[in-house]
Amino acid sequence: MAKHISVKGVVQGVGFRPFVYGLATRLNLHGWVCNTSGGVEILIDGKNDYINEFIQSLALERPPLAKIDSIQVNEAPCDSSSNFEIRESQEIEGAYQPISADIAICPDCERELFNPKDKRYLYPFINCTHCGPRFTIIKNIPYDRPNTTMADFPMCDDCRAEYTDPLNRRFHAQPIACPECGPFIELRETHSQFPTSDPRISSIEIRVAAILKARRLLREGYIVAIKGLGGFHLACDASNPYTLAELRDRKGRNDKPFAVMAADITAVASVCHLQKEEHLLLASREKPIVLLAKKSLTDSLTYKISELVAPNLDSLGVMLPYTPLHHLLLNQTDPVLAREPVPPILVMTSGNFSEEPIATDNKDALERLSPLANAFLLHNRDIHIRSDDSVVKVDKGNTIYLRRSRGYAPYPVKLPVEVKPALAVGGELKNTFCLVRDHYAFLSHHIGDMENAEIYESFEQGVQHISHIFRVQPEIIAHDLHPNYFTTRYAERLAVRGIGVQHHHAHIAACMADNGLDNRRVIGLSFDGTGYGTDGVIWGGEVLLASYADFERFAHLEYLPLPGGDSAIRSPWRIMAGYAHALGIEVNDLPFLQNIDKQALHIVRQQIDRKLNSPFTSSMGRLFDAVASLIGIRNDVTYEAQAAIEMEVLAKPFVPDAKPYPYFVDKTENGIVIRLKELFSGIVQDVRANEFAGIIGARFHKTVAEIAIDICKRARLSTGLNEVVLSGGVWQNQILLDLVRLGLESEGFMVYFHKQVPTNDGGLALGQAMVANFQTSNREERQEREENRSTP
Ligand SMILES: [Zn+2]
Ligand SMILES: [Zn+2]
Repeated sequence: MAKHISVKGVVQGVGFRPFVYGLATRLNLHGWVCNTSGGVEILIDGKNDYINEFIQSLALERPPLAKIDSIQVNEAPCDSSSNFEIRESQEIEGAYQPISADIAICPDCERELFNPKDKRYLYPFINCTHCGPRFTIIKNIPYDRPNTTMADFPMCDDCRAEYTDPLNRRFHAQPIACPECGPFIELRETHSQFPTSDPRISSIEIRVAAILKARRLLREGYIVAIKGLGGFHLACDASNPYTLAELRDRKGRNDKPFAVMAADITAVASVCHLQKEEHLLLASREKPIVLLAKKSLTDSLTYKISELVAPNLDSLGVMLPYTPLHHLLLNQTDPVLAREPVPPILVMTSGNFSEEPIATDNKDALERLSPLANAFLLHNRDIHIRSDDSVVKVDKGNTIYLRRSRGYAPYPVKLPVEVKPALAVGGELKNTFCLVRDHYAFLSHHIGDMENAEIYESFEQGVQHISHIFRVQPEIIAHDLHPNYFTTRYAERLAVRGIGVQHHHAHIAACMADNGLDNRRVIGLSFDGTGYGTDGVIWGGEVLLASYADFERFAHLEYLPLPGGDSAIRSPWRIMAGYAHALGIEVNDLPFLQNIDKQALHIVRQQIDRKLNSPFTSSMGRLFDAVASLIGIRNDVTYEAQAAIEMEVLAKPFVPDAKPYPYFVDKTENGIVIRLKELFSGIVQDVRANEFAGIIGARFHKTVAEIAIDICKRARLSTGLNEVVLSGGVWQNQILLDLVRLGLESEGFMVYFHKQVPTNDGGLALGQAMVANFQTSNREERQEREENRSTP
């Protein structure tokens, strides 16, 4: 009896059909396999024992990139064919399936890339069934060449032979290409024309001329815009302070750290401390940017990168080459490439002006990036979907996602419950959106801060594309409560039921779903920068008793005025001066105000007294900003949370011995309010006593941790709840995370932190989708009950 087998999961573009073909042939089975828009369908016929072995081996021996969610086996009529074949892909109306993210070049392809005898020697677009572009080139499903941006490149006879040979490692590798038939690169200098390197020219020197030239420019201190997998990078020598100053100046990016790409692990180890888990992450096929501890000047350094790469920070974002082109740019050993030596570590920052989306299109890049780059290393394989580099760090052996994009998106997060199709549009900063259906949450790639038209456009295109490829027709649109967010207004324009979800409730729900928790009540510590509260106040230091469907505000930081509103975020001294004024704390004599214009200070105080543009906030992020300014870290910031991050760096060594400051917990009718006057007074005393900022910072972190633990114990006492969920941007602070988690665990709490999505607003949409789904089903149940009651 024949069997019909349906396999669902990430099973396309990962070598699944060749694997099935190989398995069937090995077991002497006949039948067929084909991709559909819903997964992979297989028909097998032959000896019963072999059929059973086949079914068992499907999951056990699956190819490395495949992720199987289900295998369904049914009886089928006998198959009349005598062999096993791979059939044309089929489109099934409405069916969908997860697709693979982009995968870094595999070791086999890397070997061929540097083998002078191989036909793809030094060819920048080498790939195989187990590596290469996926998500960024897919226009539609099923994942087949005509549905990708490789459709423009007809295969040559050689490539076709590999593509159609089931025993070849490029069998059905959709982006297969070679110098004969594939894409090629080109180097353009901003002020002069450089001859195109045509891959069809047989002399290898001419073929790689563009790369050699790019290597020389990089070595000589120029900035080169390089087209990558999901967009353009700006690259330059990470050890050259003059080039870096120039890049910062041109890009309008003062201090925000740049990521670097290192030729290999040895180069990484020359500038950073490296633990085993970090090594594994760097070398993983996702090839994210990994935050590593910088070696300091006291460590013996074999290679020195400029302080301008990541000013005032003790960590560095590092990645390894992930496309063949990156390898060609950074390789230190190949004899042809070695003619133009290149620095072993390059800055690789996204190709954009600050706040704009990363450029993906050649024409767009040439227009927008010309003021930034001295030359362009272009290629003619189109990027269909923009995808920024992902950023991760290792925390006690686990991966923490700071930005989940290239290499991870659009792998779905598996949900603990089945949900209705919904779109959650996310927040305003670090936007990602989320589409859910069945048991899947498809979190988008990183979209960015929704503050200009290009990013907004990229958001709209992204929503359309992802809802199309995963065939999601949302019945619910979840959005933030903030009436002025672009995303909120977008949601309101759609003719589908919209549900507003409170920002910090969404954070807690996101972390619950991230940990696979079913619907229940937890204590949620939502420590964050900004979020619109149900009372119209800007929340951010919130302890919630929350389930997916609803929440109760158990405790929060006291409301203090933010003089100048959102613009105060860029000037922590304004926040501090405003808080001190509102609390009646004398700070005029303190160092942080000595260089502040008296008139500006006067205006801050007037704004508060007259309640002019001074919204109240309970934000935890702002509390960190204020304290950082008060203790002299910095008065103004050029990127989000800069003051708090620099305070963390200084405080780290002093945390173990630091004693917390006093604080006061006020029980009011509207829940617990954490008063801050005692805390600020304690800090002011230390500042007057000339205590070192690192020590004060450490004491401050200890205090916040103690407050968090104290409030959880009170919540447990009054509710019996014992599970604590941590979410919100402030938890990127490692000192606070370590202190609170350890403290809560030693008090017997069960603590949950994010595992697959960021704790900042990059993970928000997942929570919005969950909350909106549960609120909708609760409402429907209620309606049903009422209807039942009214019918006699
Ligand atoms: Zn490969
Ligand atoms: Zn070819």
